[in-house]
Amino acid sequence: MRLKKTVSEIEPSWLTGRSVLVRADYNVPVKDRYITDDRRIQLSLPTLELLLGAGAKVILLSHLGRPGGRVVPELSLAPVVDRLGSLLGMPVEFITDTDPSKQVSAAQEASSEQLLMLENTRFNEGDLTNDSELAMAWARLGELFVNDAFGTTHRAHASTSGLAQAMVARGHEAVSGLLVARELRFLDEALRTPDRPLTAVLGGAKISGKIDVIDAFLSQVDRLLVGGAMANTFMRALGFETGSSLVEENSVELAAELIKKGADQLVLPVDFVVAKEIKAQADTRVLDRSKISMGDRIVDIGPKTRAHFTEVIEWSKSIVWNGPMGVFEIESFSKGTIEIAHAVADACDRGSLGIIGGGDSGAAVEKAGVASRVTHVSTGGGASLKLFSGATLPGIESLTNR
Ligand code: ADP
Ligand code: MG
Repeated sequence: MRLKKTVSEIEPSWLTGRSVLVRADYNVPVKDRYITDDRRIQLSLPTLELLLGAGAKVILLSHLGRPGGRVVPELSLAPVVDRLGSLLGMPVEFITDTDPSKQVSAAQEASSEQLLMLENTRFNEGDLTNDSELAMAWARLGELFVNDAFGTTHRAHASTSGLAQAMVARGHEAVSGLLVARELRFLDEALRTPDRPLTAVLGGAKISGKIDVIDAFLSQVDRLLVGGAMANTFMRALGFETGSSLVEENSVELAAELIKKGADQLVLPVDFVVAKEIKAQADTRVLDRSKISMGDRIVDIGPKTRAHFTEVIEWSKSIVWNGPMGVFEIESFSKGTIEIAHAVADACDRGSLGIIGGGDSGAAVEKAGVASRVTHVSTGGGASLKLFSGATLPGIESLTNR
């Protein structure tokens, strides 16, 4: 992708007194109006501090959940307004009206406030359908657009690419925020000319959702390690019994093709941890991949596979990881995932590049306690996967070129 202009390239003196629209990703977990994890709010602070510090007036937009184009009180951004206010130590004016023209007048009325937030963008049906009138209405709110919502950049919505285009149509600039710029530096730029050997580790539940990524990786990487339920489908393609493991029957043929195509790079598990049931108290056994029988469920990669994957990771100078190696949510099925997380972190300690994409993989790295040691943990599951597969992101494409 073309390099995009970043908010840090805007002259601070220009920002003073200007209204700046910031699209953030405040799609945080909320339970009974309480935010259980505010990482996404924390991650938005650098861009906000930069703008507020330069004396800009900031108007925030974000979605939360899937309200389906109507007002759903449980999905109000009110808790985010409160948390952001306490994190920044300043008042956040909440514009609860969802009619865009009323939002414009409410923003004008609150002209003495420095920080405003609009209610959930997806309370408007036009956000998801990328309605250009809605984008145009929001564009009237500011003189600069900053997209810092990396997690939504793979979709074209009115509050993301639509708003960027509307701002540019009005003669303004649309730039990336600091978080988005950091994501692109690692997911796009760093992987264009990586230090080799380059290894990709893929896992998670489904092959079908990650086919484009497997394909793109096979033409780029030196090794592709496959674990998770995804590996089961490859096992079937190799002719092994998989018992009652999760297998995508429709993808077995495709897996066979990938085995042929990736003969030099593809590394598949040789043993597994199996259980009779996916639950915390279930007994586990370690089995060679040829010894799986009816009733067995593959829940993790086995010790020989862990050791081999770790060796490949140690040998690599760049590692990209998406998708856990097993059902890591359950302690006794999490060894493979945790060990790979440690292997990647150890490699990073020795100077290798380690990049984690995918929501569950990010959670696994947190659980392993190594998040701070890996080079980059992406905040966008779908967006990082799309970048890995070589696709462009509409939310980025629509920004001003550097
Ligand atoms: P990410 O969010 O990192 O992209 P995915 O969403 O593709 O990862 O997959 C994560 C899910 O895959 C986890 O919930 C995990 O329990 C599941 N999973 C991994 N291995 C297996 C397996 N062998 N059997 C069933 N589910 C698995
Ligand atoms: Mg996931």
